[in-house]
Amino acid sequence: MADPTDRSRTPPDPAPAQADGDHHVVIVGGGFGGLAVAQELGSVAGLRVTLLDRRNHHLFQPLLYQVATAVLSPGEVAEPIRRIVSRHRNIRVLLAEVNGVDRAERQVRLRDGGAIAYDTLVLATGATHSYFGHADWARHAPGLKTLDDARAIRARVLLAFERAERTSDPAERERLTTFAVVGGGPTGVEMAGAIAGLSRQALARDFRAVDPTRARILLIEAAPRILGTFPEHLSAYATKALERLGVTVMTLSPVEAIDEVGVTVKGSRIPAATMVWGAGVQASPAGQWLGVATERGGHIRVGPDLAVEGLSDVYALGDVAMARAEDGSALPGLAQVAHQQGHYLGKALRARLVAGQRPAPFRFRSRGNLAVIGRNSAVVQWDRVSLKGFPAWLVWGIAHVYLLVGFQNRLVVTLRWLWAYVTYQRGARLISEREEAAAARHQQA
Ligand SMILES: Cc1cc2nc3c(=O)[nH]c(=O)nc-3n(C[C@H](O)[C@H](O)[C@H](O)COP(=O)(O)OP(=O)(O)OC[C@H]3O[C@@H](n4cnc5c(N)ncnc54)[C@H](O)[C@@H]3O)c2cc1C
Repeated sequence: MADPTDRSRTPPDPAPAQADGDHHVVIVGGGFGGLAVAQELGSVAGLRVTLLDRRNHHLFQPLLYQVATAVLSPGEVAEPIRRIVSRHRNIRVLLAEVNGVDRAERQVRLRDGGAIAYDTLVLATGATHSYFGHADWARHAPGLKTLDDARAIRARVLLAFERAERTSDPAERERLTTFAVVGGGPTGVEMAGAIAGLSRQALARDFRAVDPTRARILLIEAAPRILGTFPEHLSAYATKALERLGVTVMTLSPVEAIDEVGVTVKGSRIPAATMVWGAGVQASPAGQWLGVATERGGHIRVGPDLAVEGLSDVYALGDVAMARAEDGSALPGLAQVAHQQGHYLGKALRARLVAGQRPAPFRFRSRGNLAVIGRNSAVVQWDRVSLKGFPAWLVWGIAHVYLLVGFQNRLVVTLRWLWAYVTYQRGARLISEREEAAAARHQQA
């Protein structure tokens, strides 16, 4: 029997509804936010849920830099979305990319031409990199957002040493062993520290013509200090800790150009074969799909209940949304914000749609601001408590293992870290021929 809430055009909704008449919640995005909403709505009578994602896996982005620097393998930081929610019969998962919303028809449009009707729509599509109007820089300095990004960066880093080993030109060897990380936020700090760990420890004895311990690693930041969202004393600690690892921290250094052979900073040319972008983010285009006014960066404005301003049946959360704390400050683009919002919104929808109640507004409870620098070294800021060094590193490790989805991932990641800690080795150094060819194309002088 046709589902009265599905008003799909041709081609029709690829999987018919589970139960006629149930309220249909469509969630776009199986990241931290969307997945938490789905989990709260799982097995709730009277609701059916469709979770759409353009990838088949939920990705734990906070550990991507460890994939990019060969500590972890891609499969250890991702989990199939289908598996995570498989026990909930009222949730169906569809692998599909959304590219529009028809608010009048209450449908999301799919890139392949299909459409899915909703009664309530939840947008949790995250964010992507922003190159501040220089889209051409993306080819030379990839950002770190997906498993493909992490694999590509890993291949470039490892291949740079391989090519440096073979060249007889000292200037080219210098360029190949120069790594420029743009952006001194947590991602840039983590990347720079991890490349330093890889070259100074894991690769130290593996080459003959090139000495990886002499690799030049630059962390380039336009602002006066790195980790600008942390208190000054923790930024200062992070700078010193990075310098001890062999990273050159360049502050007040806006990047002016990036091309295949290097980066220009404050008028100076720095030849570098491997560049990584960690400087800016912009929201996914979901605000454009809705045709609503957005904040700078494309973030969708939402109210205290995470409903999109002016719309009662569409919600947005996580990195795609701009939600405000009680004091009016914007909530940061963090996994913990998306995760808490997701659980809040799932419970709120349950209360509203099943029990007919009016839920209380969302309140963010900060679990602290964390950034890891290297082995035994991290910074943590939580309320008035700040930690640095080994205690902070321990807190960081426990928090990340705890948040990983799936027992198997938690176990494997913990064992991998223990192994890497004891042996200084990186277990995920293999690159495929395809990755190698792609990396080589970008590193030609
Ligand atoms: C390298 C890195 C390190 C980080 N480290 C930390 C950290 O240490 N601590 C912390 O709290 N936060 C960290 N963050 C931020 C954190 O990962 C994000 O804030 C969080 O992932 C946001 O969750 P989300 O659900 O909004 O979006 P995401 O987790 O990005 O999920 C969005 C989902 O939507 C899907 N999607 C997007 N567009 C479409 C479409 N058109 N159609 C279908 N599906 C779509 C994507 O495939 C994805 O699965 C880090 C981020 C990065 C990139």
